[in-house]
Amino acid sequence: MIQITLPDGSIKAFEENVTPMDVAKSISEGLARNVISASFNGSTVETVTPLTTDGSLVLYTWNNDEGKKAFWHSSAHVLAQALEELYPGAKLTIGPAIENGFYYDVDFGDHIVSDKDFKTIENKMLEIARGKHDFNLRAISKAEALETYKNNPYKTELIENLEDGTITFCDHSTFTDLCRGGHIPNTGIIKAVKVLSVAGAYWRGDEKNKQLTRVYGISFPKQKELTEYLHLLEEAKKRDHRKLGKELELFTFSSKVGQGLPLWLPKGAALRERLEDFLKKAQKKQGYEMVVTPHIGQKELYVTSGHYAKYGEDSFQPIKTPKEGEEFLLKPMNCPHHCEIYNSAQWSYKDLPKRFAEFGTVYRYEQSGELHGLTRVRGFTQDDAHIFCTPDQLDEEFKKVIDLVLYVFGSLGFENFTAQVSLRDPDNPEKYIGSDENWEKAEKAILNATIEKGLDYVVETGEAAFYGPKLDFMVKDALGRQWQLGTIQVDYNLPERFELTYKGSDNEMHRPVMIHRAPFGSMERFIAILLEHTGGNFPLWLMPDQAIILSISEKYEKYAEKVLNVLENHEIRALVDHRNETIGKKIREAEMKKIPYMIIIGENEEQENKISVRQHGGEDLGSISIEEFAKIVEAETNKTLKQF
Ligand SMILES: [Zn+2]
Ligand SMILES: [Zn+2]
Repeated sequence: MIQITLPDGSIKAFEENVTPMDVAKSISEGLARNVISASFNGSTVETVTPLTTDGSLVLYTWNNDEGKKAFWHSSAHVLAQALEELYPGAKLTIGPAIENGFYYDVDFGDHIVSDKDFKTIENKMLEIARGKHDFNLRAISKAEALETYKNNPYKTELIENLEDGTITFCDHSTFTDLCRGGHIPNTGIIKAVKVLSVAGAYWRGDEKNKQLTRVYGISFPKQKELTEYLHLLEEAKKRDHRKLGKELELFTFSSKVGQGLPLWLPKGAALRERLEDFLKKAQKKQGYEMVVTPHIGQKELYVTSGHYAKYGEDSFQPIKTPKEGEEFLLKPMNCPHHCEIYNSAQWSYKDLPKRFAEFGTVYRYEQSGELHGLTRVRGFTQDDAHIFCTPDQLDEEFKKVIDLVLYVFGSLGFENFTAQVSLRDPDNPEKYIGSDENWEKAEKAILNATIEKGLDYVVETGEAAFYGPKLDFMVKDALGRQWQLGTIQVDYNLPERFELTYKGSDNEMHRPVMIHRAPFGSMERFIAILLEHTGGNFPLWLMPDQAIILSISEKYEKYAEKVLNVLENHEIRALVDHRNETIGKKIREAEMKKIPYMIIIGENEEQENKISVRQHGGEDLGSISIEEFAKIVEAETNKTLKQF
């Protein structure tokens, strides 16, 4: 008999060679019907793997991330079989599950697979799925594995890197693939499939290698779930920040300037400026001081900070000066510069905390295939700040940073978020730098602040960085997608590396603690997320253009200018559309640009010294005075933008 521990802590005895599916059946038939994958002692196993030792077993259904992973991993096998059958001679490479679905990288030879083929591939996949074929994992010798794939250089390369005795194949139907395991019981559970797209992908992500075709797909246990997912995708497409960025004239990219280097257009630059001013104002109230540092720094600076070891090889290479021996790096992080600002003076405990803030632009190399709109770029501006304080001040500083982050989220319409507290692994204290006493203080400070501020939080033990614990905010956007925004991180490492000190009340020199924090993260990524969250309908206070004046004909040009003037006096950002177009067309275009208020003026309005106001989306506010309109705008602004 073996002892199986279940997640609820209960321990049950089973005959040796019991499978996870047998265990599920012993609990309930209903559970057995829904179990699609399992892990045993922390490793993924098949639901039919015989268990031979005591251990803890977790059973997964579609509702767990692990279950979805097994479902999509297994679906990738079905996709591979379909592609192999439809395109004889196609060479399979790798095909993992991803966050949403799965892909398979295939060398199709001269054949080009395009969206015209998707339906055929889907039908083939469904036909295979309906066969209810079991997935069977079997061990195979290296020699035999190499023999099987003697005509496939990709699989051969993969197998050559594996150790004999650890290699497994997975069979289902007439199909076999090299695979480590983690499958659902059989193909019949896959009820709905969709081939989503194809893209080029280099073998092993290396531009020097051959370009393969990556076929993306997704699958579900129910047709309804696929329909819902596709609807969400449609919605996401409409809200794609790259599309909205173009339509709203916020930013652009130029192949001449370089990939991953966004160019901010006037409206986008104004939007950024507004966001920066908003944060600067709140930071000022919390005692932050703005600093400015250069975009490059000597290589030695980053050797000291440890960033060179981390980013050096895989990032932009040093810039060399005409004089020999001088090397500079594009700044990958602002922290080292701020440490040197701290070091430019001597501080006593009475001077602390020092809070240095900078909208600092940093540069990090990303492979061209990884670049994505504003969310993955090569140059971006962090709303960075570093707080240097005594260990005893951590508690208070943490609370302040949380207040600031909550203020930012509240003002920008992010209502759905959780906090993730990452603590060190208490069983491996040697992995971390800094004294036990300080770690305890910092962890307690983070937890206290989190609880005191009433945050919905989860604790991740062992997820702290080696240099300190942290608090991350996970935000859900309007489409239910999760983003990590706003990081607060304690650091014992850089103060050590840069030999930062302050004089304590005991007249001795001490090391300050450093907090890194960035409520937005980066301006680029934040604006991208905000665009997708709001669909371009930013809170009114942030809107590039809050109103547009649409004149019914050229006759009212003068009155339009007068209205604009009054609006400007009320600090309302407005445009005038004087074009000789029908009012219907002007309204449609203003709607497209998502301008919150359309001010229509014609003969009646001019005579009565009024304006007719229509809101984005269609609501008619009727004929009102400009003063009344200004009050409406003010009230709407105050609804989201509160005093800090
Ligand atoms: Zn597999
Ligand atoms: Zn930092």
